[in-house]
Amino acid sequence: MLSQHFKTLGTPLSPSATRVMLLGAGELGKEVIIALQRLGIETIAVDRYADAPGMQVAHRSHVVTMTDGPALRALIEKERPHLVVPEIEAIATDMLLEIERDGLAEIIPTARATCLTMNREGIRRLVAEELGLPTSPYAFTDSRAGLQAAIDGGIGYPCLVKPTMSSSGKGQSLLRGPDDVAKAWDYAMKGGRVAQSRIIVEGFVDFEYEITLLTVRAIGASGEVETYFCEPVGHLQVNGDYVESWQPQAMSEVALEKSRAIAKAVTGSLGGRGLFGVELFVNGDQVWFSEVSPRPHDTGLVTLASQRFSEFELHARAILGLPVDVSLRAPGASAVIYGGLDARGIAFEGMADALSVPDSDLRLFGKPESFRKRRMGVAVATGKDTDEARRRAKLAASKVKPVVP
Ligand code: AMP
Repeated sequence: MLSQHFKTLGTPLSPSATRVMLLGAGELGKEVIIALQRLGIETIAVDRYADAPGMQVAHRSHVVTMTDGPALRALIEKERPHLVVPEIEAIATDMLLEIERDGLAEIIPTARATCLTMNREGIRRLVAEELGLPTSPYAFTDSRAGLQAAIDGGIGYPCLVKPTMSSSGKGQSLLRGPDDVAKAWDYAMKGGRVAQSRIIVEGFVDFEYEITLLTVRAIGASGEVETYFCEPVGHLQVNGDYVESWQPQAMSEVALEKSRAIAKAVTGSLGGRGLFGVELFVNGDQVWFSEVSPRPHDTGLVTLASQRFSEFELHARAILGLPVDVSLRAPGASAVIYGGLDARGIAFEGMADALSVPDSDLRLFGKPESFRKRRMGVAVATGKDTDEARRRAKLAASKVKPVVP
């Protein structure tokens, strides 16, 4: 294993360089790379398509199928990064285990964490069955008959069906009664990330609101890894995809304490250093664990405006073994800008109008191809409270119009 601490950080593109490889170079990876660049790190961006957002700001980039284990290992052997930072879930995580075991590179936060969170089953069984933390009732199955049996056997209606290898609502549906089962099964079979038939069926949690608790495992004053919590991020999901987020989400002391305890237990079990997005459902003082990303979370884009250090800067610092400061700067919000059209090389109108909104800012990710429902940018804003910040972020986002040039 490589050392947990870098005694020094080197000069990029020289023999002393501290090298970090991002596996996945979307909009979240791009911000992590920018944060690393500012600390003088040599950055290598990897994704499955050319000109991905993070590739545009990294020292070097490679187009690789990251589910291809041997190809991934060959690239890591060639580039010799000190740290490998997965930014997406669809990676040959078995190979990451080997790479970690062989001491070839340190995997962030740990190879085991990337294995457990790459499919819904590993993390759900860890959290519910090993750690005994509250989640929705659930069952895993590989067949339509098994799905029906799980629902009839106790999960009941309404419930949700999700492919185990999927994220952002893909292949996911809400079932209100027996008539919905066949359609939900067929949709889940089409929506998974890889060809496989395993699904999770989850009882519907009647939550009041959902949060992402950005949780950082970083070296503290003690010289050991300590756990830090950002203010809770509230968010709105449409069809399983986030459209708006804000920080801080108001919540009861009891719910906040429970959320932090769950986040500390889950991230502590996954181990390593870095920032995690712990997704929780809340109703009054009751809290349920939903999911965790062992990396910055899309709903945390709000922290680009609201925190002294964004979630991306916190991740960069934590993985390098540097101290973190999770303090809020001002109440903030983010609103997603969608492509709205299917085309390559689109343009954006209305930027000046958008940036005329007080205390607002924009990120356009530079994705080479737009789809109607693809996230192409985000507006962020601060305000005297989250209501004002949300109005500003939504207004700024609404002014940006994707067009065919
Ligand atoms: P996921 O893909 O698991 O992150 O789910 C996407 C979104 O669907 C969540 O953020 C919730 O808004 C909703 N959702 C997922 N699972 C449940 C559940 N068991 N009960 C109620 N809503 C859920």
